[in-house]
Amino acid sequence: MDKRKSEKKKDTQKSNSIRQEKNIHDFSVRGFADIIPKDSDIWREIIKTGSLVAELHGFHYMSTPAVESAAFFEKVFGSDKKLTGGRWYSVFGATARERLVLRPTGLFPMMRSYINHHLGYFSSPLKAFFYGKSFIREATDKLWPEGEFSEWGFAVMGDNDPIYDIEIIKSAAHFLKMLKIKKTVLKINATGCRACAGSYRDKIRTYWTREKQNLCKKCAVAQDFGRFLSCDEEGCRTRRESAPTILDYLCPNCNNHFKAVLELLEEDGLQYELDNYLILQENVWNRTVFSIFSQSGVCLALGGRFDYLSELVGGRSIPSVGCVVFTNRLAELLKSCPIETKEKPKVFFIAIGDHAKKASGRLLAMLRDNGVGAIEALGKKSLRVQLKAAERMKVPVSLLLGQKEAFEEMVIIRDMRTGAQETVTMKKMIETVKKKMKEI
Ligand SMILES: [Zn+2]
Ligand SMILES: [Zn+2]
Repeated sequence: MDKRKSEKKKDTQKSNSIRQEKNIHDFSVRGFADIIPKDSDIWREIIKTGSLVAELHGFHYMSTPAVESAAFFEKVFGSDKKLTGGRWYSVFGATARERLVLRPTGLFPMMRSYINHHLGYFSSPLKAFFYGKSFIREATDKLWPEGEFSEWGFAVMGDNDPIYDIEIIKSAAHFLKMLKIKKTVLKINATGCRACAGSYRDKIRTYWTREKQNLCKKCAVAQDFGRFLSCDEEGCRTRRESAPTILDYLCPNCNNHFKAVLELLEEDGLQYELDNYLILQENVWNRTVFSIFSQSGVCLALGGRFDYLSELVGGRSIPSVGCVVFTNRLAELLKSCPIETKEKPKVFFIAIGDHAKKASGRLLAMLRDNGVGAIEALGKKSLRVQLKAAERMKVPVSLLLGQKEAFEEMVIIRDMRTGAQETVTMKKMIETVKKKMKEI
């Protein structure tokens, strides 16, 4: 083959491999994202913090499937096909009778599970939390995310006392506070009950229909008034000022409940803003609704009462309150203001030569069994490369095992900050490492 031909062949091979890489890249789905190792610390911190909040507030763990029946969510959000059609991801392969969707939230399936498993016998009220992915193809307002997102949810099922409305708000606020997310804004509203909410909804729908020509394009063509109530466009904001407000339509019971919630918030020193147009579209909510926003106006958490949900899906009355914290939005926020991870420092284990490598499994197990986190790059042969890896991981202490040490049952402990080394017996390794870690 002459030189020109061989170069041409090389070029073709190169472009083929580029094309292949591009094809791999193209398999990613719009609205669905990967979490990659560079964000590992942030996610670990979020999951740890959520678990701690759940533990401190006494919530039991629950988990429901990512797939639920479409009929269930049509009951939850209202069966108006105009509203529900296209909002969720249908599950391909389900039979027409099954009609399955990827869940748009994990909060309400907790109630389905409560009814299915008679969880009221376990605890009343039942305080439960979940963590998982949910999916919305098209959100009806600006509060819910679109595509795939992760939620951390808290619920108290089986009690209508306003004290639990506060417990839910406090749990969400505690989560954000522990992650050091500052300057959040808690907005709260009442949405009424069966007796009083309907007439208000009719009024606001009529108002929205009448004002459509003065609203932004998205609010004017939206399927209902929900978007208009949370729109930031100036025209929509101005028109909202003269829209009817829910507070004028509340029945005495709802009025008293809302008053009690606000008094408890004040008692606890939690700052809030009243937002008379917050979360009014979705039928599932009643009485209290709230949302917590970041300084830049992103909705980080939302929730409220769903006292009628159990009856909507065929159960007896189980008054409940709950919320979801949008953890992927927390992760986005934490990326711009890195958090200090509270992880314990680890040691880096280096082995040179086959004999040392064979012994390394036993020593690594010894370290981990004794609660010392250990990382390694044993796939690399040279000392230089393994040391470089240790430096990159910024570990305070490295353990070195060469052929000689392996035969003599010794190990070298190296202080990575000073470079100082000492050789100890394998038996003394744990004790010495623990002592060194304490000094850090
Ligand atoms: Zn009412
Ligand atoms: Zn608008």
